Amino acid sequence: MTGVIGAPLAVERWAVPGAVRLGMGRRTRLPAGDGFLVAGVAGGLDPSVRPGDVVVAPDPSAPMLAGALRRLGLTVHVGPIHTSDHLVTGAQRATLAATGALAVEMETERLRSRAGDRPFAAVRVITDTEGAGLWSPGTLRRGVRALKTLRHAAPALRQWAEAIGPREVVLAAPRSFCAGVERAVEVVERALQTRGAPVYVRRQIVHNAHVVRRLSDLGAVFVEEVEDVPAGSTVVLAAHGVAPAVRAAAQERELDVIDATCPLVAKVHTEVKRYAGRGETVFLIGHGDHEEVVGTVGEAPARVVVVEDVAAAAWVTAPDPGRVAYAMQTTLAVDEAEEIAGVLRSRFPALHAPRREDICYATTNRQQAVRVIAAETDLVLVVGSANSSNSLRLVEVASRLGVAAHLIEDVGDIDLGWLASARKVGITAGASAPPHLVDDVVAGLAGLGPVSVRESSVGAENIQFTLPTGLKEMS
Ligand code: SF4
Repeated sequence: MTGVIGAPLAVERWAVPGAVRLGMGRRTRLPAGDGFLVAGVAGGLDPSVRPGDVVVAPDPSAPMLAGALRRLGLTVHVGPIHTSDHLVTGAQRATLAATGALAVEMETERLRSRAGDRPFAAVRVITDTEGAGLWSPGTLRRGVRALKTLRHAAPALRQWAEAIGPREVVLAAPRSFCAGVERAVEVVERALQTRGAPVYVRRQIVHNAHVVRRLSDLGAVFVEEVEDVPAGSTVVLAAHGVAPAVRAAAQERELDVIDATCPLVAKVHTEVKRYAGRGETVFLIGHGDHEEVVGTVGEAPARVVVVEDVAAAAWVTAPDPGRVAYAMQTTLAVDEAEEIAGVLRSRFPALHAPRREDICYATTNRQQAVRVIAAETDLVLVVGSANSSNSLRLVEVASRLGVAAHLIEDVGDIDLGWLASARKVGITAGASAPPHLVDDVVAGLAGLGPVSVRESSVGAENIQFTLPTGLKEMS
């Protein structure tokens, strides 16, 4: 299938190598093709839009196209583009701006209606605005600048055209929110309902930028340390858990503490305390800079040794090799963590193991599920934030199976270049990524051609955690 880039005017076609001439206004025509991107210049309507800015019409693939253009360093707006019969100047701009349109030109709507259900996109660079009108000094300079911007944008437009085609999408199941994350998010929501805003949250409640942004909008205030919380206020401790020193500091400030630590993280804290209480050295397999590990180490700093990899497992020592135990960060790659534990076991025959696996059910299930989809797809997209440990592990697990795998914060992070040869796309999401972000990715891919979606499940998850007692009582 072929995507076609078209430009209404000859100068616009010059700016976008490979574009076909579409003609202007009523005379515009749609060429043969399976998907169409119209590129050109436009007048700005909304005051937020400046000469040289790029406006992308809100078609289904717009978030990916806008992301690609932003990564080229361009200022991009996504919003309605009005198609007019004539040049729009003066007071007419304000009238059209009031409809919500960001820009005005003379072809997009005509072409979109002719494209029918075939993929369509429109990209316009602003030449003139209310403050810098068509007949004002500098029009020529602004026009040349807009055409240069269009040329700069051309590689992203070509990627869009090359990505056009049908796809099969395979959704991993389980994916997205785990019980610990759902509980932590609900804790903040209920705290806001019962205590009222602001409710302070130490660090990111879960490692996801979208979740943090939504809760911030509801009135949560995210701080680094409990010392940043006004005395007497409510503070929520994040799902990753904290060291006892943090609780003590919160108590000292007489804070109303609500603990959103995931019960499965709390279980690892309890284990470490038990081992350390028996005088054992605890090898904590995990990433030393991850908040969960920092909190767990804080249970017994003098007795816990963080073991990050197999190499470290091969050289770590303990004062008494006969009194040793190990524990794990809950969100590690299962196979890697087991390899590290194996090295420790071979070096310390007396090593105590956790009674039950420390790597949590959600991490294990998502890794199993991503393995299945990686085996049958050309590309795996993992929705999650860059600081989400379990999301990063999903990328690693898929990559180790030889498939191209990428972490994306949301649909806007998809590099259109990844899609040119990817006809079967696997999608999963880390335990902290909201489910709607996966829906957005599917919708974005559907904007590039017909998409068939199926789910590949390794089993259902029915785990739920109860809310902290004090919070339940107040709800
Ligand atoms: Fe709890 Fe596992 Fe979810 Fe972390 S990933 S919050 S440990 S259930």
